[in-house]
Amino acid sequence: MVFEQGSRALLLTRVIAGAAAAAGANAAGGAWPLRPLATPWWAGCRAYSSASAPPSPVLHNPRGVPAFAFDIDGVLIRGRDVLPPALQAMQLLCRGGRWRYPVVFLTNGGGVTEARKAQELSAWLDVVLSHTPFRALVPRLRTRPVLVVGRRDTPAVAASYGFQKVLTTHDLAAAHPDALPFGAAAPPSGWKQRPAAAPCPVRDLGWGSDAAPIAAALVFCDPAGDSWYQDLQLLADVATSHGVPMRSRPAPGSSPTEFHFSNPDLLWANEHPRPRFGQGAFAAALSALHERLAGGPLPAAKFYGKPNPEPYRLCERLLLQQAAALGLAPAEAADAGSTGEASDCGSSAAAARVFSGGIYAVGDNPAADVRGANSAGPPWVSVLVRTGVFQGPGANSASDPAHVVVHDALAAVQAALHGAPASKSRAA
Ligand SMILES: [Mg+2]
Repeated sequence: MVFEQGSRALLLTRVIAGAAAAAGANAAGGAWPLRPLATPWWAGCRAYSSASAPPSPVLHNPRGVPAFAFDIDGVLIRGRDVLPPALQAMQLLCRGGRWRYPVVFLTNGGGVTEARKAQELSAWLDVVLSHTPFRALVPRLRTRPVLVVGRRDTPAVAASYGFQKVLTTHDLAAAHPDALPFGAAAPPSGWKQRPAAAPCPVRDLGWGSDAAPIAAALVFCDPAGDSWYQDLQLLADVATSHGVPMRSRPAPGSSPTEFHFSNPDLLWANEHPRPRFGQGAFAAALSALHERLAGGPLPAAKFYGKPNPEPYRLCERLLLQQAAALGLAPAEAADAGSTGEASDCGSSAAAARVFSGGIYAVGDNPAADVRGANSAGPPWVSVLVRTGVFQGPGANSASDPAHVVVHDALAAVQAALHGAPASKSRAA
């Protein structure tokens, strides 16, 4: 299926809406409660698993509650195309327009607010974007200048999180046109432009000066193709000057500018037959330039997104809230991991108790999806599909072997649900 160009969220909306409508048309009863499944989860998986897949990190309770965390690109959609098995997979997970199991969508994409993404997808859909963990930086950086990089609604997303001094490379380029002798990139269409009468944050307010150095660079999503030169040049200036890009060297005693990358993926899959560069490629290029310029790696650089732990902890919290709302877990379970930093393990213990049937992380990228789920530990189960980045050779990824390897999202759900359609395992 091919839908309108340019809106991945719209495509996924149609996957979910279509699945919900199809499931609802055949639904005979309510979505809950679940009937306990009669056979162990791994009995269904075994037929799909490769011989080289590692053992499951935990023997899941065959009567336990399962949950799902789906990657999007390469699993549910590919470029502008909806993958047909994804539609069937969603049909297994929906009844009467509602999820039958706790489900989140865990993507290393971004550039819009979580609220807008959820609105685009569905009011009952939980989404964890690559930059969602940036919210935890706000208390420390709220009133300090931060340089944000990315496409779509990136500056508005940063402002919505609570950052009060949001600067873009387009602001720097406008204030210092000589910094880009080969030309500046045009701001993305749709960006809310600063009013003509508004003060220039660089020239008039002094953001990025000795008095107010840029405290952090936040890469929300992959830069636009025509702004790589601009962003690499200006971020290198910021890194080598400790946040004062007009300086030729850092001020004595100054602190390095922090660099936060929301997505470490070197590659991702669209409709092109070969994987394309992702934000990880941009970070690698910037780091290589910094190495040549300053003789060392980027200081104070941190990566978020899969396979790092923060998004998995956030997913656990969302899944626990869903389980409580659906009557699958006591209300206290939703509160168990609801406080503290994103990297805290409070949610993991609660998730292991509630989701004894496993949390199935379905993804196409071994270096992100599989590595992240394997590192997240029980009750996470990594499920690798072949519809995106991973297409072999071999029965499993050699570098990041998954617990389960299947062809597509439908096979993943069937394996997780013991190889039988969920509708047949439920009470009417
Ligand atoms: Mg993917």
